[in-house]
Amino acid sequence: MSKVGTSIETASSILKNNGLVAIPTETVYGLAGNGLNPISVLKIFSAKKRPSFDPLIIHSSKDKIFNWVSYVPDKAQLLADKFWPGPLTLVLPKADIIPYETTSGLDTVGVRVPRHSLTLELLSQLDFPLAAPSANPFSYISPTTAQHVIDQLGNEVDYVLDGGSCNVGIESTIVGFEKGQPVIYRLGGLSIEEIESVIGKVELQINYSSNPKAPGMAKVHYAPQKPLVLVDDFSEAVDDAHTAYVLFNEQLEIDSNRQFFLSKSDNYFEAAAQLYALLRYLDISEFSKIVVKRLPDISLGTAINDRLLRAATKS
Ligand code: AMP
Ligand code: MG
Repeated sequence: MSKVGTSIETASSILKNNGLVAIPTETVYGLAGNGLNPISVLKIFSAKKRPSFDPLIIHSSKDKIFNWVSYVPDKAQLLADKFWPGPLTLVLPKADIIPYETTSGLDTVGVRVPRHSLTLELLSQLDFPLAAPSANPFSYISPTTAQHVIDQLGNEVDYVLDGGSCNVGIESTIVGFEKGQPVIYRLGGLSIEEIESVIGKVELQINYSSNPKAPGMAKVHYAPQKPLVLVDDFSEAVDDAHTAYVLFNEQLEIDSNRQFFLSKSDNYFEAAAQLYALLRYLDISEFSKIVVKRLPDISLGTAINDRLLRAATKS
């Protein structure tokens, strides 16, 4: 058996036997196991070297997803109807059947219906949800191709279901409920504007320090090995020949081979889809430093800036 392929049958049989399969989604590739089975779930934590206090998101098809929670507030139902399948995770009270290994001891669980045809077909054949964090070692840049997964977790995963490049390219937006009111815990592939167009004003609780309620919000995350410097203006950066510049769309007066564009056509969705592949490329390139300018804080620019800020804290 090749480790990478498009066989739903292979993926499903490994998962039913409590193995690990990397799955394509529209956000990033996930490292999936049976979310009802503590053994599979512990394998995920160990493969990623993920701290046990960082809860997993579970994935299921639209007809089954609410089987895994015990209560659905009206506004959660509205968001689910509008945005699933899609890059939205809802944090809701868990059903008893979800083990505490999956939720890191919490009584809530993050649930999502991913928007990718191969994975949706796989999920339609499974009678359990897939626990699936991003398929990368903890705190590194998330994978957006099958090759990214193989590069880092090739020895840890039993099979990679190859669904091409992820077309959203950054993680899901996470929405929970506190005293019945919606709260955004993590910015992501669904913009605040889109969420608010359906359920009205939403509180933001985005943390830039380690936060037990949403540990994925840890300060250093999504980070390349090389120093990444985030600037408001390129004049702030100390330039030398070993520095690569990541630009949204503007051109600088320096060598063109040190300039890398997220979207020449000024498109935030394209920028999000390019971001991680570009950072991975630069991380193994000859450049020794990566300088990125903050994007305007609108649409997916807000979520991209969030990831860059976390990636930058190492430098
Ligand atoms: P990822 O590693 O991209 O799959 O995202 C998982 C993240 O979702 C975690 O690190 C948390 O920030 C968040 N999350 C998952 N489950 C919960 C939960 N029950 N309560 C709050 N946040 C959660
Ligand atoms: Mg992750």
